[in-house]
Amino acid sequence: MKKIGVLTSGGDAPGMNAAIRAVVRKAIYHNIEVYGINQGYSGLIAGSIRKLELGSVGDIIHRGGTILYTARSEEFKTEEGQQLGIEQLKKYGIEGLVVIGGDGSFRGAKKLTDKGFPCIGVPGTIDNDIPGTDFTIGFNTSLNTVLDAIDKIRDTATSHERTYVIETMGRNAGDLALWAGLAGGAESIIIPEVEYDMDSIVKRIIRGNERGKKHSIIIVAEGIGSGVEFGRRIQEATNLETRVSVLGYIQRGGSPTAFDRALASRLGARAVELLIDGKGGRMVGIENNQIVDHDISEIIARKHTIDVEMYKLSQELSI
Ligand code: ADP
Repeated sequence: MKKIGVLTSGGDAPGMNAAIRAVVRKAIYHNIEVYGINQGYSGLIAGSIRKLELGSVGDIIHRGGTILYTARSEEFKTEEGQQLGIEQLKKYGIEGLVVIGGDGSFRGAKKLTDKGFPCIGVPGTIDNDIPGTDFTIGFNTSLNTVLDAIDKIRDTATSHERTYVIETMGRNAGDLALWAGLAGGAESIIIPEVEYDMDSIVKRIIRGNERGKKHSIIIVAEGIGSGVEFGRRIQEATNLETRVSVLGYIQRGGSPTAFDRALASRLGARAVELLIDGKGGRMVGIENNQIVDHDISEIIARKHTIDVEMYKLSQELSI
């Protein structure tokens, strides 16, 4: 392997830059040339490709977003789109590709691998919704952003003695809401993986209020629906003043935490090692603090699950 490519695809996540840096530096360390592909698969089809040097990835380890930009490409889901992508890679003499993104991006990586072009997936998404890794790059940073918001909202919630509903991102996964809710001491955590019972949530708020609790904080994952609508139902049922805060895109930005930078560096480097070893169609991950790799087809086929024990604990601690 003499030349490899790297791209970021799907939703951006803090730490993607640290992963790009690791791929570039690890490859150059092994005398491999690296090409950066802009705007994910869309830039691959368009041939928006440039050589990356050691200096190209200087001063980016602490930056959110991705210097390679990211995009979604419907065209790449077609055979023709994938073929065009492979032609571009061949034009530059690129022999292997590191794809940093989520499960959609991995489906694309699998298609390329099946067509004889080896790809390695690096999980980068704030949603933490990828099986085969305890954490995805960006999740920890996003979690800390959500936690900071909860702490701030708690101040105003206490002062005004209100109920607050906070809607978090996470697509169909509840990890962000669950971790932030546990760490932020939320009264209730509503996530798509666990069916919720409105009556018991309402009873819990009213009981707390009667006990003299000054406020309630309820974390709602976007995967269950609108936080605004949820807040309206809570206010109606409890007759207590309820406010809703939809955190939105601030959860995607910011400087990556130490954890995400270290994770991104380890995963990016392992992806290059796998390509050097002639492997393709794998996804790197972290399990029990060990860097591992799995067959990407198996990852795509598996369903994401939450830590049920952690959910139960969050309930026990918020009585
Ligand atoms: P994420 O990687 O964050 O899950 P998406 O689901 O939007 O984000 O996927 C990113 C891109 O990956 C898509 O825009 C598309 O170009 C590519 N992709 C997704 N699914 C497939 C598929 N089944 N086959 C080929 N490419 C795919």
